[in-house]
Order: sequence, then structure tokens, then C-alpha cells
Amino acid sequence: MVGQRQLIDKLRELARNLWWTWQPNAISLFRELDPALWRKLDHNPVEFLKQIDLEKLELRASELAIHSRIDYAFRRLAEYLKNTDSWGSVYASTLRSRPVAYFSAEFGLHESLPIYSGGLGVLAGDHLKSASDLGIPLVGVGLAYAQGYFRQSLDTNGWQQEHYLNADPEKLPIEQVLGPDDKPLMITIDTHSGVLHARVWRVEVGRTTLFLLDSFVPENSEWDRSLTARLYGGDARVRIRQELLLGVGGIRVLHALGISPSVLHLNEGHSAFAVLEMIRADMESNGVPFGEASRDVAAMTVFTTHTPVAAGHDRFPAALVEENLGKLREALHLSFDDFMGLGRVNIADPNELYCMTVLALKLSRHANGVSALHGRVSRRMWQPLYPTRSEEEVPIGHITNGVHVLTWVAPQMHLLYDRHLGTDWPKRQRFPEAWDGIRNIDDAELWETQQVLKARLIDFVRRRLVAQYQRRNESDATIDRVSQALDLNALTIGFARRFATYKRAGLVMRDVERLAAILEAVDRPVQFIFAGKAHPEDHLGKELIQNIVRMARQERFAHQLVFVEDYDMNVARQLVQGVDVWLNNPRRPQEASGTSGEKALLNGALNFSILDGWWAEAYDGTNGFAIGRGESHSVPSIQDERDHQALLDTLVNQVIPTYYNRDASGLPRGWITRQKNALRSLAWRFNADRMVMDYVQNSYLPAAGAQWCAMPKS
Ligand SMILES: *Cc1c(COP(=O)(O)O)cnc(C)c1O
Repeated sequence: MVGQRQLIDKLRELARNLWWTWQPNAISLFRELDPALWRKLDHNPVEFLKQIDLEKLELRASELAIHSRIDYAFRRLAEYLKNTDSWGSVYASTLRSRPVAYFSAEFGLHESLPIYSGGLGVLAGDHLKSASDLGIPLVGVGLAYAQGYFRQSLDTNGWQQEHYLNADPEKLPIEQVLGPDDKPLMITIDTHSGVLHARVWRVEVGRTTLFLLDSFVPENSEWDRSLTARLYGGDARVRIRQELLLGVGGIRVLHALGISPSVLHLNEGHSAFAVLEMIRADMESNGVPFGEASRDVAAMTVFTTHTPVAAGHDRFPAALVEENLGKLREALHLSFDDFMGLGRVNIADPNELYCMTVLALKLSRHANGVSALHGRVSRRMWQPLYPTRSEEEVPIGHITNGVHVLTWVAPQMHLLYDRHLGTDWPKRQRFPEAWDGIRNIDDAELWETQQVLKARLIDFVRRRLVAQYQRRNESDATIDRVSQALDLNALTIGFARRFATYKRAGLVMRDVERLAAILEAVDRPVQFIFAGKAHPEDHLGKELIQNIVRMARQERFAHQLVFVEDYDMNVARQLVQGVDVWLNNPRRPQEASGTSGEKALLNGALNFSILDGWWAEAYDGTNGFAIGRGESHSVPSIQDERDHQALLDTLVNQVIPTYYNRDASGLPRGWITRQKNALRSLAWRFNADRMVMDYVQNSYLPAAGAQWCAMPKS
């Protein structure tokens, strides 16, 4: 038996590597030690182990006979870390000595590390996790936001309130990075408005390391010290200086640590300045001119664009660019005009803003969108950058986003897959055959598993609603009512995402009376769970939230329409694991990919979505539901009205009848058939292992100047 000291040491070591976040056994270890504390601390094991009483820990551990389970988890982590028998060791071994450097302004790894705002960050987190599982040599580079993104609550009028909490590094799974001299590593960037300093944190994500730059150091001016306080929080000057730190600072961190990447992967344009610093370093160490160095660096750079909306791309005025990058420009021996030209479509137009996407496209040889449709839209959008080429020849391909399966799949579904696909299914997840066994799952077993998951979700939602209403000092009667909201037997539809306008959160409510008629049909009950944050500056987004909340507060809808505050990875996980239907109704073609529907899919939910992003290539008529036929219209209000009609028509004519059409044993056979079709046709395609493998084959190896070899080495 392990003693108390060793017990806590082993738990602390488990807590320090985010590997535990995708291990159901490790998660339940922490939870079972003190479920209430675990929940209260946002599932943060570092803080949990600081707060939990050691005596109590020991007592609980013996009660639960948990020592052997801790030993087991600990051993599995050690084995995972040293395992060299991976896909990457066969197919990506040429990256071993010089890894891929993956840059992103946000990383969504777990709710307890709040350095993400939405899909872009979660995608980056999932990318790191799959790279780790597959054994791809890859390091992440990002920023350490002291306050992260805001926490959301709603006031009595349903108006969003933003709260910023300072995270204490002591309570996060991060460690300060030391330099070669064993002192805390500090990097500096000289600008026309002073030297910017940053320290660096390290996060272990399985076998992958993520470096986070942090400007909160005494060497900085007060203004620069708060530079990394908030994600997407400041004005253009904050933004460009954050991006300077991420891109230029990120490369300096890698070089200071002796890491010489063979590939730069820019996840969105925010980090595009990294390319400039790589060019500068190449010019300095190899004595080559800008032209040659920029060709070398472009050859090793992979750029992924995520935004099909022109306004969504970062653009900066020339003065801000010169203030922050002027020193670097001088080191690159470029004139002001030549340097500005790198960020302009029309290099001769002095009024054109400096666009990060343009910079990234000009200085990378490998560019992609994040779904087939988004690839097409991006080629059209950026065609002016390639005047001698037709739209089809624009060098932007696509790699469709996928999600990290073990992060998003419910433990109950995991067990179901273990039983029917073989326990090694996670390793084979990207192959269609791995999912053949879905066919053999007994209908009743799948259905019952879904019922269990839905019950768990309803529990979660009720608890959150009670807490929300208590916080607002609502009446006991109201709190009592919301503690009973939702019905286990009702068709449950989830909608949760950022409340960006193009995602049209309120679309289903455009015609309140028609929706009311659907909600009030007692024999076929339907209920909606909403969640999502609006950007603090986005007044329209906040109005959308308010509209939903006002409706949810009407007595007649209160039981069937709820809004869960403070959408984060935890809320997302609960929702995608427990709903019957995942609704997505963006204004096509503005949803570059969307990934929440992929998470829902893995848990047996059926997608009910506009044919946009990933769903445009996923839907085959039998594996979910489509809203419309993939039309769009130049007048948004017309498109919205048509999509609204199509949404309600499909809901009434297909979704609801399929769900409620039961056989003698009470099972909706047609529904279950669709669930199985979805899992068999889609799970192998829309996971992050497949995505990362595609990046290795189509982008990383070519960028590293290596060959893809289809036959593994013997
Ligand atoms: C998956 C996820 C998203 C992405 O949602 P989409 O709108 O489908 O792209 C956003 N936020 C959180 C917290 C997520 O987990």
C-alpha cells in the first residue's frame, strides 16, 4: 500500500499532465475523492489537491480502495509517455529531430485552463491531444492569459454580464520555463515604443508540450504588463502587440530552448508574425538576403485560415505596424512600403490596412481552409491575391476539422464502443472498419445508454439553473420551478456556441407562435437547451441571448426552454453528451467548419443542421437531418426567413415524427437506425486523429521537405 505522501505525490504528478483530461479512469479518481469539491473547483485537480484535506484524502482513498487505481493510472501515464510504438514513429519520424511548431492565439484543453474562447481554441487543444496520441513531434505556442476569456452571468433582464477573474499560476497545471542558465527564461522584443519582455510557461499535454508567453513581469511597463491579461479583450494596439508576442516571441522561445522547428503551422492569422522572425533568424545565421530567406521559410510554413467572413480577419493601420514591427522591419532590410506590401492585397495602395491573413498567405507555401466548402469559399475570397490564377488554381486547399474523440465521448459511450468495437477502437478510430461493429449494437442498449446520458444532462442543467436563479435572488417558487425543468422523455435539442451573428442563435424563434405550437404539443414534447457567450462588444449578440432568455422566462415555455449560463468546455461536454439532437443554423457559407456537431455525433446525437461547414460534406440523407438544400441568398433577411421555414418544416415533418415513431417495445427504430448510420459513416472521418494525419501527410511532411511513404518501414 502506498503511504499518504506517495499518494498525494502521484496524484499531483497525474494532475500536472493534461493527459488525465481524456482518461475517464483518471477523471473519476479525482471526482470520487470529493465530488462536491471537484465540481466547485471547475474540475481543476491542481487546486483540488491543494485544498483537499490530506487526512480526508487518505481516508477516502482507503474507503474506495483507490490506491491500486491511482497506481494503475500513474503507471499508464508513464507507459504512455515513453511509448514509441506510434503512428507518428512510423510516418512522421523525419520530424523527430525538428518538430512542428503549432501556433495559436488560444488553446482549449480543459475548462480549468481558461485560455480559449471558442471553437478555434478547442480545435487547437484537440490538435495537440491527437498529435500526442499519434506520437507526432509537435510543440504548441500560445499566450498565457491571466484572466482568460470572461465568465458569463445574466442579470434579471437577461443581459450578459462579464466577469474577469485572475487565474493564479499556482493553481494551474503550468510550470515556468527555465533557460539554459537554469534561470526563468525571459525573451525580449524591441519595438519603437519600448522593449517588450515575457516569461514563459510550459503545459504538458500528454507527450506534447505547449509553451505560453506571459507579459506580466516587472521589467515591462504597466501597460505591457497587462498585455496578456485577456483573450480578445483590447483595442487594435493590444491586439497587434499580443500578436507580436505570440509570433515573434514564440519563435524566440523555441530558439532559446534549442528547438529548431522544421514546420511552422499557423492556426489562423494571429500568429503570422512568426514567419517574419523566422526569416530574420535565417538571414542572420545564414547571411542570405530577404528574398531567399522568405522563400525558405514560406516552404516550411503551413497556414490554416478559419474565417470565411472578410471582416473577421485582423487588419492593422500602418502606424501601429511600424510602431510595433519597425525594428524587425529594419532587421529584415525592408523599406516601409515593401514591408507594408506584405500585408496588402494591392501593394501600391497606401490606404489598405495590413492584413494578417494576407501576410500569412504571402509567406506560406501550404494553406488550407477547414472544410471542403470553406476551401472553395476561401479560394474565391482570396483570388485577388493571385491575379494570374483562376479561382480553382488559388493555392488554398482544405483539411476538414475533427475533434479529439476521447475528450468528447461520454464514459458510457466509451464502454459501449469497448464492448462492440473492441477495446483498441480509439487507436483505430480513423479507419471506417473500426466502426463496423456499430451495426451489432443492440437497439435497446444504445437507446438505454442515451437515456442515461440524457438523465445526467438534465441533472446538470437543473443544478446550474438553480445556481443561476439563486445568484439573482429569485423567489423560492421560481427556483423550485426551474429545479424541475425539462423532461426525460422529451425530444431534447441542444444549441450552444458563441453568439456570433452569423450563427443566428435565435433562428428557431423567429415566429414565436409557430414555435409555441410545437412546444405545446403534449403528446410529442420537444425541449431546447441553449448556451453561449456573446463577445463583450457585440451588442447584437447580447440581444440574441436576451431574446432567448425572455422567452425562457415565460411561464408557458419555462419547462421546455432553458439557457445555461457560462458556456465553456464543461457545459459543452455535458450538452453534446446528453442531447438527442444538435442544432446548428449558421448563415451559409459562413461556418468555416463547426466542430460541436462532431462532438455530439460521437455521443449518438443526431445533427440537425444547415448544409454548411463540415455538415455540408457529412450529410448523406440517412445520418442526421439537413435544414434546406445548401442554398444561400445575397439578401441576408431573405436567407434567414427561408432557412427559418426550412428549419421548422424539417423539425415538424422529419425530426419529431422519427423520434416519436415507436414500435411495440417502445423503441424508435428509425431514429436508432439514423444514429447508427451517423456513427458508421461519420465517426471515422470527423475526428482529430484523421485531421492530424491529414496535416502530416499533406502539409507537414511536404513542408519539412520529406516524403510521405505509404508503406510503413518494416
Ligand atoms: C466545440 C466548442 C466550440 C465550437 O463550436 P462550433 O460553433 O460548433 O464551432 C465552441 N466553444 C466550446 C466551449 C466548444 O467546446
